[in-house]
Amino acid sequence: MTPTSSAPGASVTVDTQPAVAQNYRMSDSYGVVGHPVAHSWSPFIHGLFARESGQSMTYPLYDFTPEEFEPRVRELFAQGGRGLNITVPHKMAAVGIATRLTPRAAHAGAVNTLAMQKDGTILGDNTDGAGLVRDLCDNLGLVIIRRRILIVGAGGAARGVIAPLLALEPREIVITNRTAERAESLAQAFAKLGSVQGVGIGYIGGGPFDLVINATSASLSNDLPPITATIIGPETVCYDMAYGKTDTPFVQWSLDKGCARAAQGWGMLIEQAAESFRVWRGIKPATASVLTALKERALGLGAP
Ligand code: NDP
Repeated sequence: MTPTSSAPGASVTVDTQPAVAQNYRMSDSYGVVGHPVAHSWSPFIHGLFARESGQSMTYPLYDFTPEEFEPRVRELFAQGGRGLNITVPHKMAAVGIATRLTPRAAHAGAVNTLAMQKDGTILGDNTDGAGLVRDLCDNLGLVIIRRRILIVGAGGAARGVIAPLLALEPREIVITNRTAERAESLAQAFAKLGSVQGVGIGYIGGGPFDLVINATSASLSNDLPPITATIIGPETVCYDMAYGKTDTPFVQWSLDKGCARAAQGWGMLIEQAAESFRVWRGIKPATASVLTALKERALGLGAP
């Protein structure tokens, strides 16, 4: 099976001495499956994780259409693959590949990490929520307990982060979405885990929030969800799960409206990858230096 190789971060094969993973072969095979997937930074990120933690693994890109997805993923595992990251549009289809799901993947109804187990079964996990929480709490130093959170968007990414955020005991989570019914049904699905309500995008009340998370894909088309400035106050922190070379429209808008700070999803990207790496290799890689290297590469920063 030929992996795609024209990614911005390029397909990375790292062949260093395995320091910890004695149960693994010389170069274990992982990778990311999406459609399209050429834009993915995952090979670059996992290549650096592997190098810096002394792990030996390959990590190419696989561009599979929805029709190809299941048979070709099963073929990769049959050929000895140890694990895969799964990205748009396959995260829900990947649930059907897993023999068993972690609780967080079951809550999310979506899988972004598949891991071959020693007994030949395939574990399905979802590390997006853990990635967001680590970026918010560990990297950005935010406190979530008793805070009011607004999540804009009700797609797969929003679904994956609600349970991990509720576990941090915010005062409430309000979900709003362009298609209001999706926000309402998402809120209902998580109502047993904490205070969460779903509202149409024109019906957000209660004044400024402590944290506003843009979980829509609007930024990907250089667009802004139709939100009003009443959700932003001088203490509000804004977070766009999307990321780009310059400020996303949501980050620009939030700063214009006078929020305390605004961040893009680069840190979430790194942290969810680190959690996948831990699921596969049993090692939590250091992320700060990889985030710096990623930004240097992606944003064209660093030494000339
Ligand atoms: P989905 O396609 O599952 O959901 C898209 C969501 O965006 C829906 O709620 C949709 O609303 C909404 N939306 C799309 N366009 C607009 C618009 N112009 N105005 C208002 N709402 C809009 O996508 P995902 O949930 O998988 O991804 C969402 C974002 O999160 C993407 O930008 C993705 O890149 C990012 N992401 C980042 C990660 C990271 O590690 N940093 C990890 C995962 C995702 P409706 O229901 O009305 O169609």
